[in-house]
Amino acid sequence: MIREAVSPITTGPTGDPQKTNDIGPAFDFDRPEVLERAEELRTAAARLRSACELRPVPPADAAAYRSLLAELEAIMPAFYRSYDAYVTEVLRTGGTAPSCSRGCSHCCSHYVSSVEPYELIFLHGRIAQGPAYPSQIIGLHRRATLFHSLRRESEGELAEDKALYRYYLRATPCPFLGSDGACGVYASRPMSCRMFFSLSDPAFCKGRAVVDVRNRNFLIELPEDIEADLGRAAAALSAYALPESLFEGLLEANGAFGRFEPDPS
Ligand code: SF4
Ligand code: SF4
Repeated sequence: MIREAVSPITTGPTGDPQKTNDIGPAFDFDRPEVLERAEELRTAAARLRSACELRPVPPADAAAYRSLLAELEAIMPAFYRSYDAYVTEVLRTGGTAPSCSRGCSHCCSHYVSSVEPYELIFLHGRIAQGPAYPSQIIGLHRRATLFHSLRRESEGELAEDKALYRYYLRATPCPFLGSDGACGVYASRPMSCRMFFSLSDPAFCKGRAVVDVRNRNFLIELPEDIEADLGRAAAALSAYALPESLFEGLLEANGAFGRFEPDPS
């Protein structure tokens, strides 16, 4: 089966449906190598879902949180490796390699969304141990505050999309972006960051050019059954009530778990 990748750009500056970016690259999702990587990812996703479903998750229970965090620490690196291997194999079936490279980072000014609770808990567990944690929390808070002030400027069903676009125009990079343009949490970054690419010149990923007809940003989606398994994993952790925005989700995790102290025993 040949199908096009999905464009992430759905609205323009006024919230009108975008006419650009609606033709993504075509990938062959039925190529044997892709199916093989999909099967490995399917196994990794099933393991993640089982782990999440087996965990008791009373939000205020520190022992349950530590147990879940230890499980995610054991599972997530392999899950992300399988995820990246699948995406890489899909990209190989396209005619042109993406323009993306280390240090290219206009896209890190998006207000990152659709982040799953197991990703937030895992990433929070990683950053909460670092010396930059307090300043990162302040950075997350500033960005969430900016987004919500932009969100209040619009009403109606497109208000969220308009706020996302206006936030992007502010060119406020993710607090994890390093001064060298590289992601500071690369191994732990969420799927939302791993699935986003461009076939056009990186200049079209910057500011208002993002809605230029020549911009060719696209996302790689997963097979539906894997998405469903990951949805069940997320649902199993719904008691934590973590927002799906990267910045707000990590802030909520900070409020719930704080800086995790290793168990002295
Ligand atoms: S999506 Fe655009 S800004 Fe991001 S790495 Fe790719 S080319 Fe660079
Ligand atoms: S987590 Fe990393 S890849 Fe994702 S937006 Fe932040 S700096 Fe960029």
